[in-house]
Amino acid sequence: MFNSARTMALLLAVLIALVTVLFLSLVEDVSRTGLVVAALISFSVAYLLTFVVMEFVVFREINKIYKMLDKLKKKELGGFKKEKSWSLNPLRDINEQIISFAVLKQREIDELKKLEAFRKEFVADVSHELKTPIFAAQGFVHTLLDGAIDDKNVRHKFLKKAAKSLDGLDILVQDLLTLSQIESGDIKMKFDMVDLWKISAEVVEQLEEKAQKKEIRIKLQDPGQKLMVYADGQRISQVITNLVSNGINYTPDGGEVSVYFDIGKKNITTYVKDTGEGIPKEHLHRIFERFYRVDKSRSREKGGTGLGLAIVKHILEGHNTKADVESTVGKGSIFSFKLQRFKGEAGE
Ligand code: ADP
Repeated sequence: MFNSARTMALLLAVLIALVTVLFLSLVEDVSRTGLVVAALISFSVAYLLTFVVMEFVVFREINKIYKMLDKLKKKELGGFKKEKSWSLNPLRDINEQIISFAVLKQREIDELKKLEAFRKEFVADVSHELKTPIFAAQGFVHTLLDGAIDDKNVRHKFLKKAAKSLDGLDILVQDLLTLSQIESGDIKMKFDMVDLWKISAEVVEQLEEKAQKKEIRIKLQDPGQKLMVYADGQRISQVITNLVSNGINYTPDGGEVSVYFDIGKKNITTYVKDTGEGIPKEHLHRIFERFYRVDKSRSREKGGTGLGLAIVKHILEGHNTKADVESTVGKGSIFSFKLQRFKGEAGE
């Protein structure tokens, strides 16, 4: 760059000196010596000025590049906005291109780092969660092999416990698959017009037996009309299943879980209410995180994977909505979510 600035200055100076001599030679009373002096002076001044100006421009742009590199090192390019500028200065163009490229790359690196941290944390969480049922089943099987198998009563009890742990493992793996597929975008929501009430009735029917075991009554409001919404029916069924299932899990025997709706002009809100133990305020903002449980041992005892509400959150995000929760310790919880009404022929 230094060399090219010098060459350009030299060329410009020669050009200006030539023009000056040409112009002065048209004037009659200018001597040869005068022409030579004028050529030398105009050449020197033009050379110096052009050189200084070019050096200044180069210096300024290089300074900018240094500043940008400095910011890059300190990762301060987050708020960078590319300015649309029009310039004849090739250095400035190069500088701007370097900056925008660097910003783009820095953002990609930050995103990759975030994903990597998420992946590491996820793998650690999953390994931890898998360990519990695997160790339990392993323990029962080894005890049986070590001699307990000969005792008919113990054999049956231990095999039942091992089977329960393996069933839990199966549910955990299924939930993990669902969650990772939704998170990675492998599962696309299949939107269609679906009847929320029909979906809810099917879910309630499926969970009736589980509720009966705890003598919990499931109440489903009959709205007396179709509740058509634009949604992925299968996924919304999973949302209601997870919410009602939690309602049953965290409600003492003899309690009640109700599913009811608020039918607005544009939206329908589905509520799942229970008369259970409730959730302390300080935990409310975290219960939708994967593997977060208010009471770890209690959740595991109920066969919980700690992923139910994370799945709910992701499915509802796929519907551009979210779950709300209100809860009072000792009284119960109300989970709710809003979906857009379908305003087609069949929706009215
Ligand atoms: P889990 O498999 O443990 O139930 P979830 O993701 O479904 O996992 O729920 C996360 C945690 O939120 C639960 O472990 C429990 O502590 C709390 N929770 C969820 N639903 C309810 C509810 N209806 N009543 C009380 N606590 C609840």
